[in-house]
Amino acid sequence: MTTASPPPDRYAVVGFPVAHSWSPFIHGMFAQNTGQHITYRLMEVPPQRFVAEVSAFFRAGGRGLNVTVPHKQAAAQLAKFRTARAEIAGAVNTLSDESGELLGDNTDGAGLIADLQGNLQIKLADARILLLGAGGAARGVIGPLLGCAPEVLLIANRDSSRAAQLAHEFSSLGNVRSGSFETVGKEKDPQPYDLILNATSASLQNTVPPISSKCIGDSTICYDMAYGHGSTPFTRWALEKGAARAHTGWGMLLEQAAESFYLWRGIRPETKPVMAAILAAPKRSA
Ligand code: NDP
Repeated sequence: MTTASPPPDRYAVVGFPVAHSWSPFIHGMFAQNTGQHITYRLMEVPPQRFVAEVSAFFRAGGRGLNVTVPHKQAAAQLAKFRTARAEIAGAVNTLSDESGELLGDNTDGAGLIADLQGNLQIKLADARILLLGAGGAARGVIGPLLGCAPEVLLIANRDSSRAAQLAHEFSSLGNVRSGSFETVGKEKDPQPYDLILNATSASLQNTVPPISSKCIGDSTICYDMAYGHGSTPFTRWALEKGAARAHTGWGMLLEQAAESFYLWRGIRPETKPVMAAILAAPKRSA
């Protein structure tokens, strides 16, 4: 008598819109490479249906969800328990079923740090870091960045009051300040930054935050959290202004996904083969 194999454990990414997401491809490769029996699909859910559909997914035996725009704060509210890093970020990008209760975590910051320090060998301790943006992505990475003990983390945003609010909220975790696009790099004796992180969605609109090029010196490294095939407007601008190197956000995307996979499956997948497959994939929008 043959015994039927158990059904695969079910995972998904929930967002609105979500059709562009690379998560099914990434988690599909992680599962294949680690021999995990899972399915991973897209769940397009508008904000007004978020709670009902996520609750139904877990009631029907779903094991975990990645959460993307615009649901990360709603997911933080829905989770019965939150990890410390999700609590600090005020946003959840990973939901798991823990013995019938929802646990919310945020792997964006860990993903960024793994990419910067592990893959790109960028030293964050004592670094002067400029973070552009004050939205969900910025909020998720400030705590982990301050945990690496930079000399200073300056947050600048189009709406500078949002940057000031974030700097205030995180002030107990390290030397964090705020500024505006108009003032940063225009001080009396401007010093270039060691690292400039673009956490705005300007690249998605084909523009660049209008900051002074004095922020960039010949050893400045620039990083755009946005990703697509090839360079972004920000990475092109950075190299034109003399940055030492400029990277896009693929590494962060893969590392935050690997961290979610590890939470769910207890196995840490290799990200390098998946990066190679993405770069070799036919061109499509990210
Ligand atoms: P949000 O919508 O939460 O925040 C958007 C931010 O961008 C705000 O600070 C906003 O400023 C700013 N902004 C929007 N348009 C412009 C513009 N034209 N010029 C300057 N600033 C602008 O988005 P997220 O924080 O979720 O995402 C931001 C970026 O990070 C996106 O490109 C996203 O793809 C990327 N990301 C990448 C991840 C990865 O794994 N690589 C993970 C998460 C996000 P204001 O407050 O003034 O409106």
